[in-house]
Amino acid sequence: MDYLADRTKLIDASGIRKVFALAAQLDDPVNFSIGQPDFDVPDVVKDAAIDAIRKGYNKYSQTAGLEDVVACLKAKIAAEYGWDNPPLMITDGVSGGLLLAFMALINPGDEVIVQDPYFVMYKHLVRMLGGKCVYINTYPDFRLPVEKIEAAITDKTKLICLNSPANPTGAVYTEKEVNDIAQLAQQNNIIVLSDEIYEEFCYDAKNPSIGTYYDKAIILRGFSKSHAMTGWRLGYAAVSEKLAPLLDKMLMIQQYTFVCAPTPFQMAIPAAMECDTTAYVDQYHKKRDRMLEGLGKCFDITRPAGAFYMFIKAPDKYPNATAFVKKAIENNVLIIPGNVFSEQDTHFRISYVATDEKIEQGIKILCNLAM
Ligand code: PMP
Repeated sequence: MDYLADRTKLIDASGIRKVFALAAQLDDPVNFSIGQPDFDVPDVVKDAAIDAIRKGYNKYSQTAGLEDVVACLKAKIAAEYGWDNPPLMITDGVSGGLLLAFMALINPGDEVIVQDPYFVMYKHLVRMLGGKCVYINTYPDFRLPVEKIEAAITDKTKLICLNSPANPTGAVYTEKEVNDIAQLAQQNNIIVLSDEIYEEFCYDAKNPSIGTYYDKAIILRGFSKSHAMTGWRLGYAAVSEKLAPLLDKMLMIQQYTFVCAPTPFQMAIPAAMECDTTAYVDQYHKKRDRMLEGLGKCFDITRPAGAFYMFIKAPDKYPNATAFVKKAIENNVLIIPGNVFSEQDTHFRISYVATDEKIEQGIKILCNLAM
């Protein structure tokens, strides 16, 4: 297929695709592969979007988003970080923000420091833009290894990516880790991108954000996970005044790509911001605890403190994690092999977004396979 652009050869979704192909053949599986919440968008938020559609908010908005809504988000960011009038734009999900930030920053040959395991999109977007991911191995405890990051910095380093709470590990960084990275980035004058899409899903301690410690940070947040609106495509990107030129360029690229985030859904953002989602988070907290208790008896698990994932070492009797995942799927449990999120194939990802009944079934089957 020589008509395809070279960049298409840099993307590979085969790992995940194989899991979904196998899944299609299963009857009522225990599905631990899902990366989105199982509750529905809260009614007040749905009502706000429906009302906006009825009132005619169905056209393009300004590139950065509807002015009043952008103002609400700016006020939140300004209060949180003490940034004065922070440049901010509404994006098409955090995915949109990632693409815009990478496009505005990465030249061919530039290096981007990424913790391994990582969220898949970082690897593929950076590669598509001709950049090079420099992977920092964070096994087995998935902490933020500041010394290793320091050792990986070269004169080509353009960006450090952080993701806390993390997909796929569920790790939440400590204040000290984030503060240390802030100092390192400051000393080396490197921009830090912080993907905080799971910020509400923290079970043991609040997520410390790099924006509190460093003003050359891009904060990406969204509503996909916190309000179960993955299909609404809403996120936002915020920076301090110091990075205003970067946000300007991201806006320019949005103008020629996404144009804007969906206008009627933007109108529901203030309702979403006011909506109390702690009951949902509490549910996942309980599921996390039950998974740790149940699977902890048969697997070597690093305690996840956030998001809704666990990243677990496959039992030693299997040659690699993919072999274990295959066995689990044959036994009706859907999990994702770790090499989808990593340069190594030793672990598997579980999402505990499942009913309590399925969680009990899944624990039993996985434990049996580990014995
Ligand atoms: N970042 C991380 C770490 C994610 O897990 C996801 C979704 N799986 C995204 C970004 C993208 O989310 P969205 O585009 O729906 O906001």
